[in-house]
Amino acid sequence: LLSLENATVRFGGRAVLDAVDLSVAEHEVVCVLGPSGSGKSTLLRAVAGLQPLDAGRVALDGNDQNGIPAHRRGVGLMFQDHQLFPQRDVGGNVAFGLRMHGASKAEQADRVRELLDLVGLPGAARRAVASLSGGEQQRVALARALAPRPRLLMLDEPLGQLDRSLRERLVMELRELFSELGTTVLAVTHDQGEAFALADRVVVMRDGRIAQTGTPLEVWQRPADEFVARFLGFDN
Ligand code: ATP
Ligand code: MG
Repeated sequence: LLSLENATVRFGGRAVLDAVDLSVAEHEVVCVLGPSGSGKSTLLRAVAGLQPLDAGRVALDGNDQNGIPAHRRGVGLMFQDHQLFPQRDVGGNVAFGLRMHGASKAEQADRVRELLDLVGLPGAARRAVASLSGGEQQRVALARALAPRPRLLMLDEPLGQLDRSLRERLVMELRELFSELGTTVLAVTHDQGEAFALADRVVVMRDGRIAQTGTPLEVWQRPADEFVARFLGFDN
C-alpha cells in the first residue's frame, strides 16, 4: 500500500529523515518507535503530504505522491497534540474531512453518529470540545481521522497525554477496532508496551534513519544493535 524510497527531509542542512526505505502492506499495523527528535512525526507528515521531501519518494499503491496535496492522498493523520477545532462542537470536528470531500449534510450526520458510537462516545455530537476529558478528546480526534475512511490511518502518539490505565484500555480498543475495520495503520508511539500490543511490525528510528524493523517479538528478542537494546530498556 505505502512505500517510501530514499525519503529524505533536511532542515538547515541536517537530514531529519535520512534516506528512509519503508513499506507498509495493506491491513498491516506498523508502530514507529524512537527517541524524541528521531524524525517520527516528520515521517508521518511526509506521507500525509504536509512535509515535502528533499529527495526520494512516497508512493501509495505504487503511485508517486509528489505534488499530490494532503486531502487527495486518501490518508488520515491524527496529530500528536490532536489539534481539535475548539470553536466547533464534537460533530463539527468529526465531520471536517467529510465536508472537504463534499458529503451531504445527511451523509455527514449519519457518519458522525456511526463514528461516535465506534469510539465509545455515543450522543456526543453537540458537545463542546472543551467540555470533554483528555481521553475523550483523543477519541474525537481518532473519529475525525477515521471519518473519510482513509486507506492508511496514521496516528502520532494517539494516546500521548493519557494516564496508564486509560492507555491500556484504549490500546485494546484500538486493536479490536483496526482488525474489525481492516485498517492499515502507521502509528508513532513513545511507549514500547503500546507498540508491542498494537503492532504487527515495529520500526525503530534513530537520527532520521531506521535502526531496525521486525515483528515486536523479533525486535525484542534480537535487538539489531546496542542503540535498539538500550532504547528498549535492556541494560547491556
Ligand atoms: P518527538 O518524539 O519529540 O515528537 P519526533 O521523532 O517526532 O520527536 P520530529 O518532530 O520528526 O521528531 O523532528 C525531528 C527533528 O527535526 C527534530 O530535531 C526537530 O527539531 C526537527 N524539525 C522538525 N520540524 C522542523 C522544522 N519545521 N524546522 C526545523 N527543524 C524541524
Ligand atoms: Mg513527534
